[in-house]
Amino acid sequence: MSEATPRNSKTLSPADSGRDVSVKGWAQEIRNLGGISFLIIRDRHGIVQVTAPKKKVAPEVMTVLGGLSRESVVKVTGVAKAAEQAKGGVEVVPSSIEVLSAAASPLPMGVVDKVNVEADTRFDNRFMDLRRPEARAVFEIKSMVLDLIGDFLTGEGFLEVFTPKIVASGAEGGATLFQLKYFEQMAYLAQSPQLYKQMLMSTGLDRVFEIGPAFRAEHSDTVRHVSEFISFDGELAFIDSMNDVLDVVERCCQSVIGGIVKNAAPQLETLNASVTVPRAPYPVIEYCDAVEMVQGTGMHIDLGDDLGTEGEKALGEIMKEKGHDMYWIVEYPEEAKPFYIMEKDGTPYSYSFDLDYKGQEISSGGQREHRYDRLVQRMQGKGLDPSAFNFYLDAFRFGMPPHGGWGLGVERLVQKMLDLPNIRETILFPRDRIRLVP
Ligand code: AMP
Ligand code: MG
Repeated sequence: MSEATPRNSKTLSPADSGRDVSVKGWAQEIRNLGGISFLIIRDRHGIVQVTAPKKKVAPEVMTVLGGLSRESVVKVTGVAKAAEQAKGGVEVVPSSIEVLSAAASPLPMGVVDKVNVEADTRFDNRFMDLRRPEARAVFEIKSMVLDLIGDFLTGEGFLEVFTPKIVASGAEGGATLFQLKYFEQMAYLAQSPQLYKQMLMSTGLDRVFEIGPAFRAEHSDTVRHVSEFISFDGELAFIDSMNDVLDVVERCCQSVIGGIVKNAAPQLETLNASVTVPRAPYPVIEYCDAVEMVQGTGMHIDLGDDLGTEGEKALGEIMKEKGHDMYWIVEYPEEAKPFYIMEKDGTPYSYSFDLDYKGQEISSGGQREHRYDRLVQRMQGKGLDPSAFNFYLDAFRFGMPPHGGWGLGVERLVQKMLDLPNIRETILFPRDRIRLVP
């Protein structure tokens, strides 16, 4: 007997008609109709129909089909047969069905049923939830986004780096630090690679990027905050102004979203999503004007306040009317920004920016304070003890070029690009104040 040719839902085609093939996957649907049985096998790429007419297949095969539970993992061997009514125009008539792993029943949730499953049930049973093609498509796109980021920045002369995630001090404020016991000392989980990527600017590695986890103890329960996310950070030295940073980030976002439009058609179809490349150049809005625009909608907000979720949304609506999905907000009050941001002398503002996408911040950055004395002053002004940051400050005492950079939340970019209602849909196993398992 000749060996069956391994096929899957992508490679099996009507051209295989008459050939012995084998297919592996999950038993998505089993219908025993007396004279004939159907089995739908699902794999990563789609489904394969197995058709078993009682008169044509061995009794053992019918017995297996009769006792098969949904979502069991099976290997079907049989003859491929062109069949117009089957998906892909081909079906398999089985000569044997091997159950590689029987699924228990009842299932914790349905995979194909059109009933609405509560988000919590889905995340409690994420392994099962991810069997849904539309849940998985998000991660195929996320993986493409990461590749596209790497391709673009490598082409721009950036070096990919990895900085520690177990750190001695935080850069983004104490309120969201996770503390942990580190042998005989206290340590924290890194909120961002900020201090380390800046230190690298003093080394000659003058353009770096990092894609890695960032940890924030976010106490509020929102659709855009989680306690562990993937931060895409970049830092570049010898900049002439903050505009050098805006330029790289803008071209990177265009390249990433353009790449998704070009390469992710099957995933976008699965998601029923349409992605459009934002209009460039992105408009640049000064913080003061942004506040005025938000006030203009009737919302109460004072100069100096954070725009906040609602303010960002309102601004997003205004910008959408003008045909812009992506836009910069620049010159935030220095008070609102971390110690490492450079002040705009003679004003209460700073060389800082946010990048907003469809009414939500996806990135923050700016020009950094590279002058040692001014940096120490800013730390003190923010109530920080500079001596806790000596490892960082030392890098500024012996030759530090002017530099700037950004941090961009990968999940927020994916969420907004795909118009997903909750950031958690873009995280395999999300972490928030309540959720620690799975
Ligand atoms: P930040 O330095 O705090 O402005 O953070 C930089 C970027 O990281 C933000 O613009 C977001 O895209 C992302 N980010 C920050 N905090 C969170 C969070 N809790 N959950 C998800 N993404 C976040
Ligand atoms: Mg920010």
